[in-house]
Amino acid sequence: MTDLSAEQRQIQDVAREFAARELAPLVPEYQRRRSLPPGIMARLGEFGLIGIMFPEEYGGAGGDVLSQALAIQEISKVDAGVGVALLVQVLALFPIWTTGTEDQRRRYLPKGLAGEIIGAIAMTEPDAGSDFAAIRTVARRDGGEYVINGRKTFITNGPVADFVVVAAKTNPGSGRRGMSLFLVDKGTPGFQVARKLDKMGWHTSETAELVFDECRVAAQQLLGEENAGFYYVMEDFNLERILLAAQCVGLAEAAYGAARNYALSRRQFGQAIAGFQAVRHQLVEMYAQLQQARLLLHQACRAYNGEDRVLWASLAKWISSEIVNRVTAQAVQIHGGYGYIADYPVERYYRDARVFTIGGGTSEIQKEIIARRLGLTQPGSRA
Ligand SMILES: Cc1cc2nc3c(=O)[nH]c(=O)nc-3n(C[C@H](O)[C@H](O)[C@H](O)COP(=O)(O)OP(=O)(O)OC[C@H]3O[C@@H](n4cnc5c(N)ncnc54)[C@H](O)[C@@H]3O)c2cc1C
Repeated sequence: MTDLSAEQRQIQDVAREFAARELAPLVPEYQRRRSLPPGIMARLGEFGLIGIMFPEEYGGAGGDVLSQALAIQEISKVDAGVGVALLVQVLALFPIWTTGTEDQRRRYLPKGLAGEIIGAIAMTEPDAGSDFAAIRTVARRDGGEYVINGRKTFITNGPVADFVVVAAKTNPGSGRRGMSLFLVDKGTPGFQVARKLDKMGWHTSETAELVFDECRVAAQQLLGEENAGFYYVMEDFNLERILLAAQCVGLAEAAYGAARNYALSRRQFGQAIAGFQAVRHQLVEMYAQLQQARLLLHQACRAYNGEDRVLWASLAKWISSEIVNRVTAQAVQIHGGYGYIADYPVERYYRDARVFTIGGGTSEIQKEIIARRLGLTQPGSRA
């Protein structure tokens, strides 16, 4: 895009370089092993790709949300699993910066931004996904400690996390006003990774079910104010939607690029298949959808600090996640049988794309959020 500032272009170049040189050589092996390449978070930290939006005093770069989005886009173009591991690292550190005490910031941010410690965010539960306010994990106060009991699932970075931001009810009768966030370190008695989950895609990202059984944490591990957790999470979700949209743009770009190259080189009936109007038009449609997703992402970044930030973040997440599913499916189609074979990257792109209309709030939930923003959920009222 030509409207990028010099700083934004520079970050995108660094991330592109990192993805090509450091990440791409590791992808085949760690896709097979189904694990996050060891040390990759520290390398992301060394290249300054975690702390882009964070203040310099904690090791960040004081940049904007579009710069962070561009970095995640470039990483996801090469591997969406590592892309989401980076995204979750940012999301786990973000509330520590915005709501944490100075002591918490000093303990977690410099190491987290350097990638020396890995973070996770544990919101979803076996019986509470879209209906996040219905979580059942509880944290009860006991003197100078909180005792956490509950179960979390689908937690990205869970198996490798050094710390987890956990949402729990501190006042179970009060719905959204009775939820708090806690920082739980690996090794805390009562906190365990119950099992690692096997997924359709995102194979280089590790996902877990977590258990908290009489898990005691010092009261200083409470993040922000007691009972204000729901509102902190909503801010984190908003950032998450933008960064997921960036992942979708990166992956759609990779799929379009692969399909284009294939269509120009694959020959049937004596000519390159791009010579057939049906194939050519599919590529044009893919390109148009990719640009649509990109423009929405940029608009969501522009709106990030304004009144309409929730509307644009949800629009960007919903549309780009639907687009990446269509574009990766078209890329497989253009590859014919080879698109179904793991030797070609489009097979992975197609599997990696599937989760984007689900994770971080499903398409149905994004539409509900948008409907609320448009004043459509209370018939009789005006927007
Ligand atoms: C690979 C992966 C990684 C993830 N990483 C994390 C993580 O790091 N941390 C974390 O906390 N969570 C994580 N999640 C959880 C993710 O955010 C949830 O899966 C998602 O919010 C949907 O919740 P659910 O799976 O319980 O589906 P449900 O809420 O049970 O939804 C099932 C279906 O019902 C529909 N539905 C539900 N409610 C409504 C409604 N009101 N109107 C219309 N339709 C509705 C949904 O759209 C969906 O189609 C991850 C999930 C996956 C798959």
